[in-house]
Amino acid sequence: MCILAESDDQSLLVDCGASSLVALKGAGVDPNSIGTVLISHLHGDHFGGLPFLILDGQISKRTGRLRIAGPPGLETRVTQAMEVLFPGSSGGHRAFDIQFQELPEGVPTSVGSVTVTPYEVLHVCGAPPYALRVEIDGRIIAYSGDTEWTDRLVAAASGADLFICESYFFDEKVRFHLDYSTIMKHRSELGCRRIVLTHMSSDMLGHLSELEVEAAYDGFEITL
Ligand SMILES: [Zn+2]
Ligand SMILES: [Zn+2]
Repeated sequence: MCILAESDDQSLLVDCGASSLVALKGAGVDPNSIGTVLISHLHGDHFGGLPFLILDGQISKRTGRLRIAGPPGLETRVTQAMEVLFPGSSGGHRAFDIQFQELPEGVPTSVGSVTVTPYEVLHVCGAPPYALRVEIDGRIIAYSGDTEWTDRLVAAASGADLFICESYFFDEKVRFHLDYSTIMKHRSELGCRRIVLTHMSSDMLGHLSELEVEAAYDGFEITL
């Protein structure tokens, strides 16, 4: 998972999964232009791209500060991931500053010039998993992270201009993940203007022609 949000004055990532650096470069985005990364939860497909983003910044002589905000335990897990993948790398010299920020549940918190409110959801990853509500440049983008259905999603998505929601399955119910039929059952409660589905399994991808809401794909772009 990797969502790039661009406003007039900044570029921000929401989640940075293992292949994010390759995807950014493939899309013609300079990774060093990203000032802030928000992490929903500490699974590799959501934060595992950070060691590569950090090391790429080091090699390409990045100078601008990198803010990384997410659940409690974030800095420790990123340091551990760096040490597993590239031993000695977490303490290496860098020309740029990394500022970790661990976000408290339910509290609107400033991260640079955006305001982020995390809501704890139902998923298991060794640290609190969050849905995120992000206020950027007068717009509100909500993101489910990974979770089975919980009313916290209503709090996160209420009044949002865009809600990006995981839809792992079409109608099969599994613990800790969402399916399209459950999302649609709660569509009116969510109170958001627009929903885009993501994090889809091959089961879900086989039903794309039946969907009543939009589904994301690699390179999908939206203007709010
Ligand atoms: Zn996960
Ligand atoms: Zn995931």
